[in-house]
Amino acid sequence: MELNEWILANEAGLRLGFFIGVFALMAVWELLAPRRKLTVSKTLRWTNNLGLVFLNTLVLRLIFPAAAVGMAAFATELGWGLFNYYAVPFSVEVVASVVAMDLVIYLQHVMVHAVPLLWRLHRVHHADPDFDVTTGARFHPLEILLSMLIKIATIAALGPPVIAVVVFEVLLNATSMFNHGNIRIPAAIDRFLRLIVVTPDMHRVHHSVEDDETNSNFGFSLPWWDRLFGTYRAQPRAGHDNMTIGIHDYTDPKQVSWLHGMLWLPFVGRITDYVINRREWNDGEK
Ligand SMILES: [Zn+2]
Ligand SMILES: [Zn+2]
Repeated sequence: MELNEWILANEAGLRLGFFIGVFALMAVWELLAPRRKLTVSKTLRWTNNLGLVFLNTLVLRLIFPAAAVGMAAFATELGWGLFNYYAVPFSVEVVASVVAMDLVIYLQHVMVHAVPLLWRLHRVHHADPDFDVTTGARFHPLEILLSMLIKIATIAALGPPVIAVVVFEVLLNATSMFNHGNIRIPAAIDRFLRLIVVTPDMHRVHHSVEDDETNSNFGFSLPWWDRLFGTYRAQPRAGHDNMTIGIHDYTDPKQVSWLHGMLWLPFVGRITDYVINRREWNDGEK
């Protein structure tokens, strides 16, 4: 199919174009209507967070040059996956694939919080002491690679159309920048918006230092999974202006704001700490 060939040839440019466009929009929005005052200077935040994004893009392109769309084209060619096996109308295939991949991202997000080893990677995202458009793309390279492997496995099982994968990737990237935006949206509009998309006020709850708040609102694009699986929490207890963002015990600027510290963050702290804490917690329960 000609469209698929065009997408495969222009995938990187397409995604970069959307990234730059949405990023610029959010940057202006943050200037015009900021939600909270940043605790770390924007220059320091953006240089280091975007430095990590740049590094991730390089690593990903080196290891998976064909990316997720390449896998979708490959699956179509070989007849792999659900949608290549059953004849379903194209539009249904596209919508169902985007929704299914979003569910997988939700489940993956719950998993990286629940499994201690994976939390070490994911805490790079949460250790950010502030919450703005650059937080949305701030992930450890190993978490990015893990994410790509899960995506490739999902595509192999699902067999989505190539266009669905591009739409999903662009949507995920755009909504991630939107829902990490340090922007003020009137409460009435937010209530309506969060019926169809995860809003910044909804996702900010997930970045709280409070454990029960962090373990809620795992969704990235669609807000329905949290409501369906009982992980939805409307607002932070302390309110959006007074809540603390980040992780308890990880507040050293070198570790949480500088690129070299972020890259090293998964490897600090004894592994047994968690086991000891867990045991104490279990004993306390008895
Ligand atoms: Zn998280
Ligand atoms: Zn986040």
